[in-house]
Amino acid sequence: MTDTLSASSASLAPGSDTAPGSEIAQERRVVTEIPGPRSRELHERRLAVVSAGVGTTLPVYIDRAHGAIAVDVDGNHFIDLGGGIGVTTVGHTDDSVVEAVREQVGRLTHTLFTVTPYEPYVRVAELLVQHSPGDHAKKVVLVNSGAEALENAVKIARKHTGRNGVAVLDHGYHGRTNLTMAMNFKAAPFNTGFGPFAGDVHHAPSSYPYLDKLSGAEAAKRTIGYLEKRVGATDLACLVVEPIQGEGGFMVPAEGYLPALVEWCRANGIVFVADEVQCGVARTGAFYASEHFGIVPDLITTAKGIAGGMPLAGVVGRAEIMDSAHAGGLGGTFGGNPVACAAAVAVLEQIVSRDLLAEARRIEGVLKPALLELQKQHPVIGDVRGMGAMLAIEFTDPETGEPDAATVARVAAAAAEQGVLALTAGTYGNVIRFLPSLVISDALLIDAVGVLDAALSAS
Ligand SMILES: *Cc1c(COP(=O)(O)O)cnc(C)c1O
Repeated sequence: MTDTLSASSASLAPGSDTAPGSEIAQERRVVTEIPGPRSRELHERRLAVVSAGVGTTLPVYIDRAHGAIAVDVDGNHFIDLGGGIGVTTVGHTDDSVVEAVREQVGRLTHTLFTVTPYEPYVRVAELLVQHSPGDHAKKVVLVNSGAEALENAVKIARKHTGRNGVAVLDHGYHGRTNLTMAMNFKAAPFNTGFGPFAGDVHHAPSSYPYLDKLSGAEAAKRTIGYLEKRVGATDLACLVVEPIQGEGGFMVPAEGYLPALVEWCRANGIVFVADEVQCGVARTGAFYASEHFGIVPDLITTAKGIAGGMPLAGVVGRAEIMDSAHAGGLGGTFGGNPVACAAAVAVLEQIVSRDLLAEARRIEGVLKPALLELQKQHPVIGDVRGMGAMLAIEFTDPETGEPDAATVARVAAAAAEQGVLALTAGTYGNVIRFLPSLVISDALLIDAVGVLDAALSAS
């Protein structure tokens, strides 16, 4: 253990010219209890100075990471099945991203794009236009976070339509700013006690095939019928939909649901916004998940996986809608920061040059059958779903049919103790979600599922 630790500090020495990450063995290795002594020490420091409102899923302090492995301050190697919630698309500390950031940080870190522009912002916009669905004219605005992208999409849709109403779906999640809190379905922990919230946001039933058993046409009729009665189509500026819901639990909507919503929006002058903050950027085996459903959104919000962990987000959409915002109406000091843009260019180029769309499908091909097999062994797994490298298992008590969040919490904790980082999700907290880097090996996936299997058998 001491050897591992001293080796790690040596590799982090300033001036070393190889990225410390590339020396990290791509294997699971638990060398202390979890959390280990150094993590526990750091956690004490943290508790003294970091707001209690900033929660901790697992108080294991990560020191470095590469590919699909994260190494903590005690030298434990974790298989990272969460990727910081689907952020590390190309893997942790991918060489080309590290190189792009290093180059850019020494060249230019800030001007403020709306004062004096720079090329990387323009390049990211070109790549987003190129890789988002539809061959119509498109334009882009870059910002810092997913929530900020949602805020901007709503501003643009309101300006374009001259209307105020914002429609969202049950089980959706859109962020932690005041407007996006109003757009979230689940109050706790995201919204509780933080109101009053932005007005004119309307929640409508969604498509959740595992629970509602509705066809796409039936679910769409219910959504549309509700919005027409409750709000009225002529008062709606936009409908904001995650093509595959993230926090809600990776619900893949029933066939025909999304196309019916898009058609209704078109017929009624409502801007259709696809919130692809979690499901976008190659995650599902398409550049944007909308493609799987044959829809072309008016606007797409994108963030999480776009810049290898550097803070960057954006809205890409129809040029005439994006241009309806007046000059000076969109922007912000750090939005489209040059270093974050350089990282995004590297990520987007890697997706193409390494065919990471195919890698996402490979992961589905390995992980989904393994999870279906797990379901056969453990009837508490009621559903296996998702697309590409965005897969989930939902836990339901086989006798009562009630959501089983307790087993999920127990399995996730047991997996962490064995060196597997697995994220939970779901309106009822009864979902384990898989968002691994697209470069994770088959062997690591199989090893991780084995750990979940053992955890389930023990419970
Ligand atoms: C994470 C997320 C957001 C919010 O993004 P932040 O960068 O955390 O502000 C919005 N929508 C979806 C679908 C998300 O998964």
